[in-house]
Amino acid sequence: MGTIHIIGGGLAGSEAAWQCLRAGLKVRLYEMRPFKMTAAHQSGDLAELVCSNSLKSTLPDSAPGLLKAEMERLDSLIIREAKIASVPAGMALAVERTLFSKGVLTALESFLNFERINAEITSLPSAEELEKSGDVWIVASGPLTSDGLAEALQAMAPEGRRLHFYDAIAPVLEMDSIDTNIAFKQSRYDEGQEGDYWNLPLNKDEYYAFVDAVIAAEKMPLHEFEEVKYFEACLPIEVMIERGRETLRFGPMKPVGLTDPRTGRWPYAAVQLRLENKQESMVSMVGFQTKMKWPEQKRVLQMIPGLKDVEFFRFGSVHRNTYLKSPDVLQGDLSFKVSPRIFLAGQIAGVEGYTESAALGLLAGRAAAAKALGQSFVMPPPECMIGALKHYVTEGGLGDFQPMNTNLGLLPTVPKKRGQSKIERKAEQAGLARETFAQYQDINLKNMSTYETQADLTARG
Ligand SMILES: Cc1cc2nc3c(=O)[nH]c(=O)nc-3n(C[C@H](O)[C@H](O)[C@H](O)COP(=O)(O)OP(=O)(O)OC[C@H]3O[C@@H](n4cnc5c(N)ncnc54)[C@H](O)[C@@H]3O)c2cc1C
Repeated sequence: MGTIHIIGGGLAGSEAAWQCLRAGLKVRLYEMRPFKMTAAHQSGDLAELVCSNSLKSTLPDSAPGLLKAEMERLDSLIIREAKIASVPAGMALAVERTLFSKGVLTALESFLNFERINAEITSLPSAEELEKSGDVWIVASGPLTSDGLAEALQAMAPEGRRLHFYDAIAPVLEMDSIDTNIAFKQSRYDEGQEGDYWNLPLNKDEYYAFVDAVIAAEKMPLHEFEEVKYFEACLPIEVMIERGRETLRFGPMKPVGLTDPRTGRWPYAAVQLRLENKQESMVSMVGFQTKMKWPEQKRVLQMIPGLKDVEFFRFGSVHRNTYLKSPDVLQGDLSFKVSPRIFLAGQIAGVEGYTESAALGLLAGRAAAAKALGQSFVMPPPECMIGALKHYVTEGGLGDFQPMNTNLGLLPTVPKKRGQSKIERKAEQAGLARETFAQYQDINLKNMSTYETQADLTARG
């Protein structure tokens, strides 16, 4: 039986280690801290929460609530320890961070098969070497992956599909919350025809009021280590405005070739919305990367005609984040196409957030364990929350691949019913996800109980 080697003892790596130990496997976890620190971590602890101490909502019908419930049923260490170390935080799961990290370490160290090695890994074994040894690797080195390892990962991605070092994320909106009496569907220059984009027209006054509001809005400060050299192709809108109040009208708010059916003319400026999923429930604001603080973003973007009541699936952001274009480089089980005994997990695979990262660690851990044991592991289907997140990572959205947090827009939409409120519709969607997950779990229950029996056989403290 091969050994599982895991790079990174963050949220994803620790969760993956747990899943493999529970499957009775030997795990070597390589964590470079405290011997070599990242620019954001403060300690040598496993599963350190680098910023907020919240794992978000526990409301059963919310996306983070669904995700946590599914992870719990898949025997998640991160959720278990978060609950043990929880502090009162209303309907959110917040933790006392040192207690949480200590709990994770104690749980892993209770397996004699677990070894933590304080080392930075900068190279990966070849596919041939792994085939021979039977070992399996999981890369879970996070958004602040060390430079040496980042180089090794570049080599795992085909030319032109390299590692990204910054997120410059545009907001993603709920299509249903956009006023389609104002928004019109048209591709640029497709006069009179229905095109692929939704467009939001602005008149002169609306445009300058919007620009002034962006200038005045509070922005997120960058961390010291985030002295971003922006790519010209994805400048935040506020940086563009610094170059002049007209810049947006010649950039992402260019109105040419967009005929507003209400006036028969091109508007003064326009915002384009591009579909993010096939169900047409999510759209992103084209070229609208922004560092405005989230409440400010909501307030300012709602000034755009058609967005008065808009709901956000994801806010815009700009930060340092190493991640791979996973749909191009990974297989459906989170292993690399070029090296199927190496798996990718956590934020580096293209998700955002503590729980999301741990969720991918859980799935990669299970899939890696199955590979080492010569078994198969069936991934949860995209109709439940954890399956939808994994599906996004390996199959990708429709536009440029950008890291994603968990949200209901990743799930299949449910048809609108007469008289049904938005809350009721979301509850229906969440209910269907729960049903799908329960069916998945029933079918895979045998596998899960096998894991537990094997875990019992290992010499637990
Ligand atoms: C500044 C900052 C603030 C954030 N704030 C939040 C927040 O408030 N809420 C939220 O939900 N998410 C937040 N995130 C995102 C958060 O980091 C991730 O969601 C989560 O920690 C990622 O989990 P992970 O396991 O993928 O990576 P990490 O938790 O970062 O773990 C990766 C580990 O790999 C180690 N490592 C890296 N390279 C090597 C190597 N070559 N060899 C050995 N070890 C290595 C690192 O030391 C690290 O411990 C933030 C991210 C950053 C950078």
